[in-house]
Amino acid sequence: MDIERKLEILSSYAKYDISCVYSKSKNLKIRPKHFIYYSQSNTGKTIPLLKVLFSNACIYDCAYCINRKTNNVPRATFTVDELVNLTTNFYKRNYIKGLFLSSAIIKNPNFTMEQMLKVVKKLRIKEGFKGYIHLKIIPGTSEILVKEAGFYADRVSINVELPTKHSLLLLAPDKKPESIQNPLILSSKTYIETIHEAKKYKSVKIYSPAGQTTQIIVGATPESDKNILSFANKLYNQYKLKRVYYSAYIAINKDKRLPLKNEEIIREKRLYQADFLIREYNFTLEELFEKSKNLNLTLDPKTNWAVNHPDFFPIDINKASYDELLRIPGIGIKSANLIIKARKSSSLSFENLKKLGINLKKAQYFIACNGKKYDKNRELTPLFLFDFTKEVNTVETPSL
Ligand code: SF4
Repeated sequence: MDIERKLEILSSYAKYDISCVYSKSKNLKIRPKHFIYYSQSNTGKTIPLLKVLFSNACIYDCAYCINRKTNNVPRATFTVDELVNLTTNFYKRNYIKGLFLSSAIIKNPNFTMEQMLKVVKKLRIKEGFKGYIHLKIIPGTSEILVKEAGFYADRVSINVELPTKHSLLLLAPDKKPESIQNPLILSSKTYIETIHEAKKYKSVKIYSPAGQTTQIIVGATPESDKNILSFANKLYNQYKLKRVYYSAYIAINKDKRLPLKNEEIIREKRLYQADFLIREYNFTLEELFEKSKNLNLTLDPKTNWAVNHPDFFPIDINKASYDELLRIPGIGIKSANLIIKARKSSSLSFENLKKLGINLKKAQYFIACNGKKYDKNRELTPLFLFDFTKEVNTVETPSL
């Protein structure tokens, strides 16, 4: 099979693993169709990545996966040299700034991880590749390979896939919970150890310096949003993950263990928003699920909390603490900081807020300036709530 065909297969079957946004690029001999993706760095910078699988010839049979062994799909596997050459070629031509490498399991987890590591090591050592590398760790990989992976990649990730052991055993019976948990524990431990060591000795290399991430499929199994976010919270706390990605279930396979339809994409979005509120806005899980175990799909979680707590509002912009400002729909971290800085010199009016660039579209219903509301006629009514369903995002959609 020629390399173009391999690339076509192994990039198109990589798209089910999120963390990037599809995009096209121009001027390639092999024209990038679906293998150039844009990922965002921690600093918000957009990075075009070559996103591929090393192989899609899987020996496992996870119910939800396009690459499962019982599916009749075209199969391909790169050689180490093919993938190294392809990556360096694209990198030198400035089509990509890095590589996002995952794989189906060929032969066994260690063999697969060894091939992926050979690619990454050859890129770094032989080709002097300085681009960004995101490397998936294959469940069941040995300790020695997990440890090695993070010293060549900027970021490692291990997909937990499903929110409970029961669901994992039901849909991915080849993946034992410990085959995912052990690499998670080891990479998180090694990351923390190297961070501490690097404070003492400058020569210490930090393991997976861009942090570790994971992915949860949402809607393939019946767990509620509260279950999912509670599980994500544990992952953040126990393994110091940089990010948990939520991926709305796509009904690719017919299987009686699975729902017939795709999960609604808005659910994925609400989970990201709620995740962000917990991590960055000091909301608790209980606050977001006071009335239901699932998030409101019509209203974003912050607005939903606000309309259920009229006693908390209006908040006076000139008196509110930073945490109180963050509770106002329409006001995010950037706006809260702007308000706090600006009101040090003089008290703020609605006009001042507009000049500061504060978006009052949502906030107007929840704020006051020196005791005065924005427009006494504009009370929050079901009619005005209609505005909130138009997806004016107040919680910044997290970078991937
Ligand atoms: S191990 Fe990965 S590639 Fe293989 S069937 Fe499961 S999810 Fe798909």
